[in-house]
Amino acid sequence: MITVSQIKTEIRFDSSGKKLELADMLDSKEVLKKKAAKILGIHMTDVSDVTILKHSIDARKKPQIFQVYTLGVTLKDKSLEEKAARRCKNSNVTLHTPPEYQFPPSGKSELKQRPVIVGMGPAGLFCGYMLARHGYRPILLERGYDVETRTRDVEAYWNGGSLNPESNVQFGEGGAGTFSDGKLNTLVKDKNGRNGEVLRIFVECGAPERILYENKPHIGTDILKRVVVNMRRAITENGGEVHFGAKVTELEIEQGALSGVRINDSEILPATQVVLAIGHSARDTVTYLDQIRIPMEAKSFAVGMRVEHPQRLINECMYGDKYGNMLPAAPYKLTAQTSTGRGVYSFCMCPGGYVVDASSEPGRIAVNGMSCSDRGSGKANSAIIVQVDPADYGANGPTAGIAFQRQLEEKAYLLGNGCVPVQYYGDYKRDQSSGSRLDPDSPQPDIKGAYRFSNLRGLLPVSCEQAFIEGMEQFDRVISGFAGDHALLSGIESRTSSPVRICRDETLQCPTVRGLYPCGEGAGYAGGITSAAMDGIRVAEQIAGSFCISAGLLGEIDLK
Ligand SMILES: Cc1cc2nc3c(=O)[nH]c(=O)nc-3n(C[C@H](O)[C@H](O)[C@H](O)COP(=O)(O)OP(=O)(O)OC[C@H]3O[C@@H](n4cnc5c(N)ncnc54)[C@H](O)[C@@H]3O)c2cc1C
Repeated sequence: MITVSQIKTEIRFDSSGKKLELADMLDSKEVLKKKAAKILGIHMTDVSDVTILKHSIDARKKPQIFQVYTLGVTLKDKSLEEKAARRCKNSNVTLHTPPEYQFPPSGKSELKQRPVIVGMGPAGLFCGYMLARHGYRPILLERGYDVETRTRDVEAYWNGGSLNPESNVQFGEGGAGTFSDGKLNTLVKDKNGRNGEVLRIFVECGAPERILYENKPHIGTDILKRVVVNMRRAITENGGEVHFGAKVTELEIEQGALSGVRINDSEILPATQVVLAIGHSARDTVTYLDQIRIPMEAKSFAVGMRVEHPQRLINECMYGDKYGNMLPAAPYKLTAQTSTGRGVYSFCMCPGGYVVDASSEPGRIAVNGMSCSDRGSGKANSAIIVQVDPADYGANGPTAGIAFQRQLEEKAYLLGNGCVPVQYYGDYKRDQSSGSRLDPDSPQPDIKGAYRFSNLRGLLPVSCEQAFIEGMEQFDRVISGFAGDHALLSGIESRTSSPVRICRDETLQCPTVRGLYPCGEGAGYAGGITSAAMDGIRVAEQIAGSFCISAGLLGEIDLK
């Protein structure tokens, strides 16, 4: 295959002003074949096929908006591909075969017990999927519930019901990622093809093919829920087991090696290989692990507030006001350095999405963002966050970051009187509550969950508050109106990543407990859906590469 990149075509807009979706924009194979043949200096009839490997939108020359493709070009006479590529002398033309992902062959030592995976977020799910697909019959334990039950619990809470500490936006099948924007891009460098494998499995389990080539692949919570259920089915069809409402409350350790896990403070499941993929919000489990001296360390993370704007404002800034609103909801990525040298940046931006009440503990409020696959809410939101280091929150022990997050979430709970506290940015700067000044024309928040206008000043530590305002003002110079009076703030964004890193050695095992594999975001080795899934695959490879499954291990476990 010859790879030809930087192929540009101008987007043709419909005079009716009809909004274009990706599928409407893509050029036909004929157009792309013609473009590729021209660059390669060959006749179009010599090209047997073109595959889109990458696609993005380039709006730097507004109002002209371009699509930029990287194509995989296959010639009718494959033996001519090398000659054509070499003769071309164009740096955008290379001979390239995408890295094939290889799962390792089984190891030599016999596995005495079936592997156990704690947590069914992306890390646990992909670890379980790979082990099941290769015959290791994993047992997955999830403290929360299946997607259907969980959705009912979350929506009941968002509509004013009580919070279920075991079934919420953080806990349950699919993990924290299920009620998300479903952005699948990651900055993790990967020469092993795991990133491609994650996207390929998402497609195999029901996600649209476009995620394989989109520059910023995204599926939205509606599609993600279906994909998660299909992955669960594939795991059980390949001999794996999934147990919901199964919280691991203790580890059984004998002479520095795992021998089992206790579930729901009651029965023990014998296990020698346990993947701890518990996510960044399993504070009770992390506190227990710290108590039994599982090596871990405090880690930097970031806190801030969600900011919401009309999507129209972002699209006009990104694509220009001529065609801005005829293109899909545009994302943005903003970073700033404050006068005190602190980093402020946008995080988990949700174009055409919603702010969500992502709390998991009674008496504490945390927010995040989500969207559906159509990104059609008409609102854009992201977290504007400030980096905090252990020094900022006076780390006296690895779990100090958890205490710091809890303090902020308790403050938010009080400011919102049990709901998500919100405020207009103008009032925030003026340090006055928005509650008293509501006029019918003011934009209303698009929040999943109950909210209440309040004054968010004092929610963030002073140094973070100043950095937040400085950042907002700098971002307003990039996106005019970003720091407008009616930009809507909601707080607190505290679960941006894990405040701890659970130590692991080069075999991905806990250095003091053999057979324990800290994994994913909660253990501090990932940030985001795809990187957590890649880490899950990495741990699956480690277990499979070390062990083979013995015939004796065929029995079902019976969790009463
Ligand atoms: C609202 C929201 C939107 C997001 N949007 C995006 C996005 O668009 N793109 C993106 O890349 N990332 C997004 N993220 C972040 C992403 O969801 C996480 O990075 C990712 O889910 C981490 O995966 P994980 O498997 O490591 O942990 P998690 O997904 O947190 O899963 C951990 C699982 O372990 C379970 N568990 C915890 N303790 C125990 C125990 N003791 N016993 C049994 N089970 C246990 C939990 O119930 C949970 O289901 C979002 C997060 C949230 C909350």
